Amino acid sequence: EAKKTQRGTIHFFSPEMDAALQQRLHLGNALREAIAGNALELHYQPQLAPESRALHGVEALARWTHPTLGRIAPDKFIPVAEETDQIEAIGTWSLGEACRQLALWRAMGIDIPTVSVNLSALHFRNSALPGFIAGVLDRYGLPPRCLTVEITESIMVDRGGRTLETVRAVRDLGVGLSMDDFGTGFSSLSNISRLPISELKIDRSFMQHFEQDGNAQALVRAVIGIGQSLGLDVVCEGVETEPQRRFLVELGCSVVQGYLFSRPLTPDGLVAWLAEQAGAAAGTPRR
Ligand code: C2E
Ligand code: MG
Ligand code: MG
Ligand code: MG
Repeated sequence: EAKKTQRGTIHFFSPEMDAALQQRLHLGNALREAIAGNALELHYQPQLAPESRALHGVEALARWTHPTLGRIAPDKFIPVAEETDQIEAIGTWSLGEACRQLALWRAMGIDIPTVSVNLSALHFRNSALPGFIAGVLDRYGLPPRCLTVEITESIMVDRGGRTLETVRAVRDLGVGLSMDDFGTGFSSLSNISRLPISELKIDRSFMQHFEQDGNAQALVRAVIGIGQSLGLDVVCEGVETEPQRRFLVELGCSVVQGYLFSRPLTPDGLVAWLAEQAGAAAGTPRR
């Protein structure tokens, strides 16, 4: 089968590609139903100070359990959402849901300083985004500093468009702006000086090679140094081992996130985890 694209080139799809395409279309349709049926969920992963373990905030991560296919990872459905024009709907939903949940926690007397929400670079092509965020904060009575928006360096692709203006307008609301997956992809130091970011998140791939790889350690050290000299929070994600945590303490990393502390949790799971942490802090001292 041949398909004509807008540029007029003809692409021939092999049967295998057809099957993959069909699967993505199928997933796209299922995703549309899931969004409409409010079947997506957010799980929350704690972010804490590496030494005191004081809570810095939580990152909201989307979860989807398909009725027959079971759990589908965000690494699979987020790209499908981007291809099938549904990524704005997901971003809109997660901003609202994360703020609703945070307001609920605060009303319960549970002090969670910030919630971080992942947004696709594509969402910033819509200049209505800052107004929408302001509206959500207002609806739930949350000060802007309670919200951090995580973007990736793919935000730099749309140089001609309105994207960067929209990023600045979001930041001007007073919400935090975090550069996620820093050190991968389109990384360049000029990006962090051109964007009004408040936080750098070092990609978890650096932690994966950390113990054996001197280069990974040197890069983490350098990024923490850059963050410090720019007055940014530096979050290290994917922290899985105690030696990694200790090394990050030595380097002066301000925030850590990873399976060593907790996996992403349901809202109830997070409340239970916080209670457990408070108990541990009051009881036996940590090593
Ligand atoms: P991310 O924003 O970089 O999120 C961190 C990912 O690392 C999460 O994967 C988290 O579960 C995982 N992780 C955390 N600690 C550890 C650790 O110690 N070890 C390992 N191996 N992994 C760890 P998850 O939830 O599967 O999400 C994958 C990606 O999907 C996210 O990467 C983000 O780019 C995207 N994503 C997730 N939720 C949303 C969303 O609501 N909107 C958008 N646009 N993207 C989302
Ligand atoms: Mg993230
Ligand atoms: Mg990341
Ligand atoms: Mg990622």
